[in-house]
Amino acid sequence: MIRKYKTAAAALAILLFLLPWLMPAHDAAGVSCDGKTVYLTFDDGPTDSTTPYVLDILREKQVHATFFVIGRQIRGREAILRRLAEEGHSIGIHSYTHVYNEIYASPAALLKDIELCREAIRDVLPQYRGTLYRFPGGSFGLRSELIDAVKSKGYTPYDWNASVGDAEDPPKTADLLLQNALATSTGKKRVILLLHDGVRYNETIRCLPGLIDAFAAEGYRFDRLPCE
Ligand SMILES: [Zn+2]
Repeated sequence: MIRKYKTAAAALAILLFLLPWLMPAHDAAGVSCDGKTVYLTFDDGPTDSTTPYVLDILREKQVHATFFVIGRQIRGREAILRRLAEEGHSIGIHSYTHVYNEIYASPAALLKDIELCREAIRDVLPQYRGTLYRFPGGSFGLRSELIDAVKSKGYTPYDWNASVGDAEDPPKTADLLLQNALATSTGKKRVILLLHDGVRYNETIRCLPGLIDAFAAEGYRFDRLPCE
């Protein structure tokens, strides 16, 4: 009997030892990601001037994406938020106000802002249980107490590792946005691409069909966060 336990214990120990090598690669959020994949992520919507046009293109191309929304913009655009969910896109929390000096004043202020955004989403989509989160401006250089506070509440923050540069000055043409996307993605197996669907991102809309075609031609598949 004891011997049997010892054998089982030894087998378990070997399995635990091998587990990290047997498991697929994991990203920073602890989620497994295999294959060449691009995650299109759109920040700062929903807006009337950009989000519906982005959704039309994604539907036409049969591609799913992730939208990090601003809570205070949802009122009056409930139909757009519903459409995001109905068409199979991921919805993440970005901010309620997106006012940096207010939300980053303290961990409590940040968590309050996140909670307000979550409530605004749930007013429209009561079943929403999402934990995806993107720090306005990204987590780069943020105080660790802010990042720890967000993680401690069960949210999974996602930054990006490539960008079209559509929110940077000076404004760029659709061609340049596409060039930026490809240049910043070079050599990356998993691309989390930053785009925006804020107010009047016309060049982002214009670049999107060609951008999707270009990534597909490079052998990428498209997915929404979190990676499964
Ligand atoms: Zn933003």
